[in-house]
Amino acid sequence: MSTSTQGGPALPQERRVVTEIPGPKSREMFARKQSAVPQGIGTTLPVFVTRAGGGVLVDADGNSLIDFGSGIAVTSVGNAAPRVVERVRRQVGEFTHTCFMVTPYESYVEVCERLNQITPGDHTKRTFLVSTGAEAVENAVKVARLATGRQGVVVFDHGYHGRTLLTMSLTAKNMPYKQGFGPFAPEVYRAPLAYPFRWPTGRENCAEEAAAQAIELIDKQVGAGNVAAVVIEPIAGEGGFVEPARGFLPRILEYCRANGIVFVADEVQTGFARTGDLFACEDEGIVPDIICTAKGIAGGLPLAAVTGRAELLDKVHAGGLGGTYAGNPLACEAALAVLETIEEDGLVERARHIGSVMLPRLRRLAEQFGFIGDVRGRGAMIAIELVRPGTKEPDPAVTAEIAKRCHAAGLLVLTAGTSGNVLRFLPPLVMPDHLLEEGLTILEKAISEV
Ligand SMILES: *Cc1c(COP(=O)(O)O)cnc(C)c1O
Repeated sequence: MSTSTQGGPALPQERRVVTEIPGPKSREMFARKQSAVPQGIGTTLPVFVTRAGGGVLVDADGNSLIDFGSGIAVTSVGNAAPRVVERVRRQVGEFTHTCFMVTPYESYVEVCERLNQITPGDHTKRTFLVSTGAEAVENAVKVARLATGRQGVVVFDHGYHGRTLLTMSLTAKNMPYKQGFGPFAPEVYRAPLAYPFRWPTGRENCAEEAAAQAIELIDKQVGAGNVAAVVIEPIAGEGGFVEPARGFLPRILEYCRANGIVFVADEVQTGFARTGDLFACEDEGIVPDIICTAKGIAGGLPLAAVTGRAELLDKVHAGGLGGTYAGNPLACEAALAVLETIEEDGLVERARHIGSVMLPRLRRLAEQFGFIGDVRGRGAMIAIELVRPGTKEPDPAVTAEIAKRCHAAGLLVLTAGTSGNVLRFLPPLVMPDHLLEEGLTILEKAISEV
């Protein structure tokens, strides 16, 4: 796939390791980072990037790394993607900000029109734009509370929804997201998630039993009539790419419909072709009342969206929603370029193709190595869960060791999971096949060496 931009020559689509990783220049900059930036801002791999595109990240020492991270599922169309570069470059010379709430501009409206068309369901929708995923989820809860006159919010084990007060309260994992940052927002209730690999009575019972437990928890501990919203990721992202057992999401949705509860799908990580559907909800025909999107929406420019039933979103009084930078014109142009790229370059199919390359190779590895407990995911959102052989006991140490070996060999991988024992793979959807295969070969080698 071409990665040339108006801005310069195409980046060679190759892995190239010319120094230790990180190299001397990166190490020098990292030392500066350590004295200028608090350690609360973590670093997965301390190489300092100077260019990126297609399936590679190029660092200050001239190394070219294969990117299995996409900046956490953001640069799905590739970094500095040609259409994004072109539209943003044109826009930056026209105007950079007016604040949409002060004097509007067309691109914001066009992004909203497009999202109303392409998100699941053919009901009348409205969309408004914000800047981050957390902001989108937080606003979805605001809308649901106002529209229902209720306060309760139900979330799930292994859920991740952001780092603001409300969204960290919605998030399941204590360390590092919540530790010491309390007290948390009230009226948040956590239900079990249908986690097939870890369901005590087996995968086959998982959907039904987990849904029954979640519903009983809501009925008995909260009262359905007190619940404004259920907020759920159709595939749990930070929680370790947990695909709820099939049947779980439809059952929860049905319960929400029967009880006037707003079903909010957090598709911040799963959206925009990542899972081999435009939105992960489509896999089981889920039509959420509100869908939150961000990450993959604008090729790296900060943008997020809340899309939902017109009758819900229209309940909010004028001025009740918004933000100074929300729907920034550069980000809106980038989003329009991303949507065009997904469509014209067939990136939904491309995500499916990536899954069809990765899953069989990873499953073969799992047969060989007892510490790969589970292989899962859809499209270009794939993970392996690592355990002590013969058990389901999480093994975060072996997970970190494999990641370290991949990094040293020039393959960026990310970890995830409530126990830190999941390796997740999120390649840009435009990654050429030879890099995808080479990345998998490096991973196989790292796994066979630990
Ligand atoms: C990343 C993420 C968020 C938070 O998005 P930010 O842009 O980091 O605020 C929320 N929900 C999910 C599912 C995410 O993956």
